[in-house]
Amino acid sequence: MNQPRSLANQSWSAPEGEPVVRIEKVTKHFGEVYAVDDISIDIHRGEFFSLLGASGCGKTTLLRMLAGFETPSSGRIYIDGQDVTDVPPYKRPINMMFQSYALFPHMTVAQNIAYGLKNEPLNRQQRRERVVEMMALVQIEKLATRKPHQLSGGQRQRVALARALAKHPKILLLDEPLGALDKKLRERTQFELVNLQERLGITFIIVTHDQEEAMTMSSRIALMHDGRIEQVDSPRRMYEFPATRYAANFIGSVNMFEGHVVSHEQDMVTIASEETGSELIVHHSQPLTQGMPVTVAVRPEKLKLTEKGTNPANEITGTIQEIAYLGDVSIYHIDLPGGKRVQFTQSNIQALAELPLTWGQEITLTWSSHSCGVLSQ
Ligand code: ATP
Repeated sequence: MNQPRSLANQSWSAPEGEPVVRIEKVTKHFGEVYAVDDISIDIHRGEFFSLLGASGCGKTTLLRMLAGFETPSSGRIYIDGQDVTDVPPYKRPINMMFQSYALFPHMTVAQNIAYGLKNEPLNRQQRRERVVEMMALVQIEKLATRKPHQLSGGQRQRVALARALAKHPKILLLDEPLGALDKKLRERTQFELVNLQERLGITFIIVTHDQEEAMTMSSRIALMHDGRIEQVDSPRRMYEFPATRYAANFIGSVNMFEGHVVSHEQDMVTIASEETGSELIVHHSQPLTQGMPVTVAVRPEKLKLTEKGTNPANEITGTIQEIAYLGDVSIYHIDLPGGKRVQFTQSNIQALAELPLTWGQEITLTWSSHSCGVLSQ
């Protein structure tokens, strides 16, 4: 999993004081369709916050309500403590960068950026200075007199960003801002966006369907599903401690074993699962009742090779069916006797130190009770 962002590697905790954005019990329906269904989120000053989810989950509708382009069917939106639910877009301390960039083809780069300032109380000189400042910020000074069709996709993205930042908004909304860029440029631009956001201290709220992108850039992620929130958490916590089966599946790869609770004592749950052939033991502090159906989630990289029969619990034995070599790691697909397919990832440096694994080979794997999770939703 790709986690290079400095913030993503820290456990984010809410700062003191009022959130810069408060979304309170917001619902938006279009006829019968509940695009956003009773969502409440607090977003704090200086956050890089992602709304993440599959197509149609309601993330763009939520972003458009923050911008003021849609009105909630119910619920309130506050910015800096002020109720803006009925405030028009141009009066909100917010700006939005659209996925299409929406640049004017007949205007130069400088004119496009200046257009973002049209409602600001600035004189000609101040306006010119602000445009120069913005072009320097995103490093496009040399392109000032070009028109959008004379720019690459990445350069157009910078112009759109400069225009959206020009009026110094408190909050910048970005709708799939990297969607039009190729993979390499997207990865590079992710870092640039994070650096820029950290330098400016503006709150960024971004919509993306790409979980790696959200993991790389965000201080926190709200994972949406069918108009509702599945989980709001830092990238690291979302990956290590998914709250629901949907969250576990959406973020990264995961093995899920179905079973039921046998006992729960001193933060250790014992689970019987027909899929694994051994009992499962999971470190878990929330109370679970005996007999309750649960799912145990284990990430492929948490599995370790072991000797068969040496572990009292959390042990599976199966046959290697597929191997994918990805350079730094290899992914193995292993079939268990009951038919369950399990994914196991091993770094190739580690693999070199051990006996090579091959197709058709029987292997036994284990994992620690602290490196798996139990999900009841
Ligand atoms: P995508 O990633 O595909 O853009 P999304 O998560 O941003 O999806 P939304 O655009 O917010 O999803 O749409 C959520 C749901 O609301 C979808 O079922 C969509 O069809 C519906 N919807 C959105 N806008 C309208 C509208 N103006 N009229 C009717 N239904 C709408």
